Amino acid sequence: MRGISLRLFRYLIIVLIVCVLAIASPQRCLAQEETRMIASGQYFDVYGYAGIDIPSLLAALDYQSFYPGSSLTGERGDFSAILAKTLDVIYLETSDILDIHIYSYHGAIQFLPDVSAVDSIFYKYAGRSMHERSFYFHEKNTIYISVRDLELGVLGHEIAHAIISHYFVVPPPVKVQEVLCGYVDFNLRKSRGKILPKNKHKD
Ligand SMILES: [Zn+2]
Repeated sequence: MRGISLRLFRYLIIVLIVCVLAIASPQRCLAQEETRMIASGQYFDVYGYAGIDIPSLLAALDYQSFYPGSSLTGERGDFSAILAKTLDVIYLETSDILDIHIYSYHGAIQFLPDVSAVDSIFYKYAGRSMHERSFYFHEKNTIYISVRDLELGVLGHEIAHAIISHYFVVPPPVKVQEVLCGYVDFNLRKSRGKILPKNKHKD
């Protein structure tokens, strides 16, 4: 009896430890599995979470700066096609700013609900948390970005990372890459009269 109780006790301790680890891990909310393809253009396959609002997403990307005078409200347009086209134009504008043109490039963008969803993906790949709005993961050739904190400059920054990672045979030092991506972010904001970035999401 004593032996069985000890074994049962050990078993319960192991179950308890597994439960605590499962609850504590940021991987518990893996938003990645919940996304589906919402658009596909020349340069990106685009994924979004269930219920993602494409017109709001386009508004956050300053859609009107690409198509002056147009409006998405009340239109029965093909939002997926407009999103794909808008992202292609953002890719080309980023290429122009960097003066690096890879016309054969094709990657993916995962639009996730918020910073914690982005963080859960980062944790899965890096084994640590990041608490940023977005990141580019070269092994997956994918940009992960929070829709709640979305702005054109932030997406341009990550697209610049993708372009730089594909262009250079020997990757530039991380600091040099960040300066180049920051340059893209600044130029995209400046060209639209938004010099100051939005406040970072504080979760
Ligand atoms: Zn960066």
